[in-house]
Amino acid sequence: MSKLQIKKVTVLGATGSVGCTTLDILRDQRAMAGRDSVQVIALTANQNWKKLAEQALEFAPEYVALADAEFADDLRDALCGSKIEVGCGPQSLLTAAAMDANWVMAAITGAAGLPSILVAAKRGCILALANKESLICSGALLKNTCAQNGTTLLPVDSEHNAIFQVFNPAMKSMVERVILTASGGPFRQWSAKDIANATPKQAIAHPVWSMGAKISVDSASLMNKGLELIEARHLFDVSPDQLEVLVHPQSVVHGLVEYKDGSMLAQLGPPDMRVPIASAWGWPARIQTNGKKLSLSDIGRLDFEEPDIDRFPALKLARNAMNTGGNACNALSAANEIAVASFLQGQIGFSKICEVVEFVIESGDDSGSNWSGEPGGFEQVFDIDHRARLAAQTKIQAL
Ligand code: NAD
Ligand code: MG
Repeated sequence: MSKLQIKKVTVLGATGSVGCTTLDILRDQRAMAGRDSVQVIALTANQNWKKLAEQALEFAPEYVALADAEFADDLRDALCGSKIEVGCGPQSLLTAAAMDANWVMAAITGAAGLPSILVAAKRGCILALANKESLICSGALLKNTCAQNGTTLLPVDSEHNAIFQVFNPAMKSMVERVILTASGGPFRQWSAKDIANATPKQAIAHPVWSMGAKISVDSASLMNKGLELIEARHLFDVSPDQLEVLVHPQSVVHGLVEYKDGSMLAQLGPPDMRVPIASAWGWPARIQTNGKKLSLSDIGRLDFEEPDIDRFPALKLARNAMNTGGNACNALSAANEIAVASFLQGQIGFSKICEVVEFVIESGDDSGSNWSGEPGGFEQVFDIDHRARLAAQTKIQAL
């Protein structure tokens, strides 16, 4: 095996849903192409030191990072006797991202993933981006950082990976529409009244995808699809009015691009994150995987319907933010993170998530900010993120 073929990998957010699936793919690749074909450089997690230790003992990275230093001793004890270096605290994520992996999976949840993503982006690598929030809050700034440093940004979010596969940048002027599909989530057929009273357990019980808690709640409110519209705008540089959402309960068609001549190209696949992760792993080629393949005759039919904005107002909020600009998108995503965390802790009801986000977007914050304009730099991105979180917390306390 030539040195060029060896992939040096770092997984940021290794213990989560996307992180674990990424390591499944790596395990399979090692089994097929030989153990030396993949070298794991660093793995990171927030608190789950047990899972991280288990992964570290299997994949033997050079370094593991645990963002929450409270569990540092547990992780050190678990890896005692191995050659794996252990880092703890937020800074350790940056150390992990700075190491010389040439393929980095960004699978931390929320804007907390941005600092480590930036470190990796500045190094020049393939950045497989699952963490949509970091792109939503920083937009062109992150894209430019990647471009200026020779980093290739590959979308891993299934809809964006699908669109990436059928979107021909050379034909961009001939693209009419870009369509993202949505499963509709667990409340697709629920009444507005029932949705308002939904519990965290009901919200995270996604009918098709198995995912982390935050994105599961976002999928239930359709905020996830709203965030994905913004993500698609940045990734493919299309205008807001070219972007559409279709509810597609079977979750087989993940994204579509319609060209001006009437041709519509779509990517289909099972609703399994192994597919977009494998696509990013193999890019620009393709790899063989062991995952279950799609049988269209078993599925039989594919349904599509317009989303119901009245029952799922998050879509409208996200669209309005997208039309307002980058700072509003940042505030929307930050306020949503706070509101979703509050909902998951049982502090607010499901319908209050959107109420909080709408309030933050419409009222701005104490400094009189109305979140207009585009961020001038990453400092402003972090500042707006911080202020929107405070505004959301204040609103939640007042509910
Ligand atoms: P998850 O909650 O299952 O895992 C999150 C990972 O990030 C864990 O390893 C956790 O330890 C780490 N983490 C969380 N907060 C952190 C913090 N403050 N500092 C450092 N590390 C932290 O989430 P997930 O479902 O794997 O999603 C990860 C990202 O991928 C999200 O941005 C999500 O929107 C996106 N995504 C997920 C899926 C999916 O199927 N799960 C699909 C598309 C996109
Ligand atoms: Mg998605």
